[in-house]
Amino acid sequence: MNVHEYQAKELLTKYGVPTPFGKVVYTAEEAGEVAYREFVRNGKDMIVLKSQVHAGGRGKGIMHDPETNQQLEVDGKAVRGVILVREGNIADKAYRLASNMLGKKLITIQTGAEGRIVRRLYISEATDIAKEYYLSILLDRQTGRNLIMASTEGGVEIEEVAEHSPEKIIKTLVDPTVGLKSFQAREMGFALGFTGDALKSFVDFLLKLYTCYDECDCAMLEVNPMVLTPENKITALDCKMSFDDNAMYRHADLKEMRDLDEEEPLEIEASKYDLNYIKLDGNVGCMVNGAGLAMATMDVIQLAGGKPANFLDVGGGANVNRIANAFRIMLSDPSVKAVFINIFGGIVRCDRVATGIIQASKEVNLNLPVIIRLDGTNAVEARKMLAESGLRFSTAATLAEASERVKETLKEIGA
Ligand code: ADP
Ligand code: MG
Repeated sequence: MNVHEYQAKELLTKYGVPTPFGKVVYTAEEAGEVAYREFVRNGKDMIVLKSQVHAGGRGKGIMHDPETNQQLEVDGKAVRGVILVREGNIADKAYRLASNMLGKKLITIQTGAEGRIVRRLYISEATDIAKEYYLSILLDRQTGRNLIMASTEGGVEIEEVAEHSPEKIIKTLVDPTVGLKSFQAREMGFALGFTGDALKSFVDFLLKLYTCYDECDCAMLEVNPMVLTPENKITALDCKMSFDDNAMYRHADLKEMRDLDEEEPLEIEASKYDLNYIKLDGNVGCMVNGAGLAMATMDVIQLAGGKPANFLDVGGGANVNRIANAFRIMLSDPSVKAVFINIFGGIVRCDRVATGIIQASKEVNLNLPVIIRLDGTNAVEARKMLAESGLRFSTAATLAEASERVKETLKEIGA
């Protein structure tokens, strides 16, 4: 699960990690009001407007009209996803800019061409920046430890730094049972070139950040940029946080931060039924039990000349309803042109799968080619049920046979 920057910063604040003051708003009127009440009236002459979407690269991204796809401009300048406002009537400018951000489409290198609609805006205090750094913590599966990465090349895409100057990324592994030790934080600080007050501030920052990562069961916590101010203080200007879904049962407060507008509607629907569904951009829908078999099935589709439209694992103990819901969700994706069902009946019995498929096919008024390969417990009964259902399914007994069917079907439908 991911959260917005402002929510991540609320968590940072709770753990004592310094971050600039800010307020989230939902309308342009509110933006103008908040800019005046919270900032101008308190003597601030610089604020930052930040689009809240679950994608990075906002600073370089540009706002577009969602209907016409035209780039939006204010005072002859393209409206970006993150904007520093520092001249003239700040509250008025915040209102005008917010009108061109809220409800509009932000396109960044991370959103793809379809962009993302901005529904929340974070108005933040502008910070004086002496230097920008990169800092992140994530789980390193290879060592089973938490990996802290830092770089003096902050603000820019870290992938670029990793590719062109990997020596500029400093890494420290933390044993999760021992936790981060202050000597490790100091060593990182030295490596980043901090001394004196800046070093002290960094060590404090990193230790608190690590506690936040650990206690919130983060999968990843990234601060880019982490900045050094002219007063030698370290602060988090941007923050991206994602959590380990398997730990969410013990974080009711974090679960409330979920923003369904930022998630794929079909994935939300699938999560209601405990289905592992991930939407992809192909044309062959696939429904499989077991993640390994699902991966192999996607390979088979690819080898047959198709492209998987999704990853869908119905799980080991799927019942009729779950199968029917999985089938319905998969079919509601308009890019699905054919369906390949590949189920091995171990714990789940093939006749139950067949019942689910037949039930769902009747419900959704099925008119797509469906290739079904069922094997294992009660496979013979299941194939018989499908054949007698009066519905047009193409069945196969082996994976090789199924793959041939997929190939033929794709040729038939010209996909
Ligand atoms: P993104 O990573 O999505 O582009 P950031 O929050 O990192 O968004 O903002 C982009 C850039 O905008 C930052 O690298 C920083 O230079 C500037 N910026 C962001 N927040 C502030 C702030 N509160 N004060 C001053 N500059 C900021
Ligand atoms: Mg950033």
